[in-house]
Amino acid sequence: MKIAVAKENELGELRVAQVPDTVARLVKQGFEVWVEAGAGIGAGYDDAAYKTAGAKIITDSALLWGEADILLKVNPPTKQDSWLEIDWLKPGTTLISFLNPLGDPALIQQLAQRNVTALSMELIPRTTRAQSMDALSSQANIAGYKSVLLAAASLPRIFPMMTTAAGTIPPAKVLVLGAGVAGLQAIATARRLGAVVEAFDIRPTVKEEVQSVGAKFIEINLEEDTTAEGGYAKQVSGDTQELIRQGLSTYVAKADVVITTAQVPGKSAPLLITAETVAQMKPGSVIVDLAAETGGNCACSEAGKNVTYEGVTIISPINLPGTVPINTSQMYAKNLLNLVKHLAKDGELQLNFDDDITSSACVTHGGEILNERVKDALLVVSG
Ligand code: NAD
Repeated sequence: MKIAVAKENELGELRVAQVPDTVARLVKQGFEVWVEAGAGIGAGYDDAAYKTAGAKIITDSALLWGEADILLKVNPPTKQDSWLEIDWLKPGTTLISFLNPLGDPALIQQLAQRNVTALSMELIPRTTRAQSMDALSSQANIAGYKSVLLAAASLPRIFPMMTTAAGTIPPAKVLVLGAGVAGLQAIATARRLGAVVEAFDIRPTVKEEVQSVGAKFIEINLEEDTTAEGGYAKQVSGDTQELIRQGLSTYVAKADVVITTAQVPGKSAPLLITAETVAQMKPGSVIVDLAAETGGNCACSEAGKNVTYEGVTIISPINLPGTVPINTSQMYAKNLLNLVKHLAKDGELQLNFDDDITSSACVTHGGEILNERVKDALLVVSG
């Protein structure tokens, strides 16, 4: 069975779906591995390293896509000139990638029409059994780390307390909003740099995790149930949102740095910081909004831009995992390797839809869209 690793064509994407180490393991599992020429350059791996690992290097993109039995990618297939990459795939190919299935259900429909079996890395269940395949977590972890470094580099003061002959400098105050995977890593990173850290999450169950990585948990009394199925946050009512914004405003105003990571799966990000609250912050303070791509947790955020509002810098990065491509590629490649090993027996893919990892992640098979939420999203898009 032929596994192909395609080059990423998204502007600025430096990650790659497989690294030489994981390619060698796939070869050991009995797969033939093809890697598109130059696919690993952004992540620090040249074609020779893949060749040494046992891969065949392919220069012709259409050939690589067209001959693949399993195609591995980071980003969804793109449109190149007048050609959709999907059109290169032969019916029956298995595509495994981030596919943004709820954000772009039309793409999922095209995959179904092409009779491609597509597994979406966003839909790997967040369970202990699937932990080694959980690419959302592996990438969010690094995004949380990098967000703090961006804040520290922009802040016109240092993070740690320093006692020197020239006086004592107090530590910076960092506030983290949303304590999922990215938020917890942001807390740990800010603590390692010496900041004093406070954090809030709408799910009260994360209090202990927040405290275990060294932050004080901010309590806001909410009457509404805030936790949905699977431990995710719920989209709460407008009144509860307002209560949260008001409850947080004094903490935001006192912070030197605010890192926001709050997300509700499949919905736009909750607004946690209004422009009025930003204006109450000290000039020079920094907000890093990791939710900017889904609408932003701060009213002043503009996805992909750094803006200044009333002396406060608001940084809204796009694709932070892509800025640390060596490690994020290594982790993503391992997530994919573990998934392929989970799905394969004796070098062949054998999809078992009674298995929750397969049934959750598989969005198209046999010409059909399998995921009900994607079908609903498609109905909304097509009106
Ligand atoms: P996410 O990116 O979907 O959201 C980030 C955080 O924002 C979440 O903690 C969420 O509760 C919080 N949030 C949402 N609305 C908010 C609001 N209005 N105010 C403040 N905070 C708000 O989260 P994630 O990192 O993908 O994690 C989602 C869930 O998956 C969590 O329950 C996490 O513990 C769980 N998880 C489990 C595993 C596992 O068991 N293997 C692995 C990873 C994550």
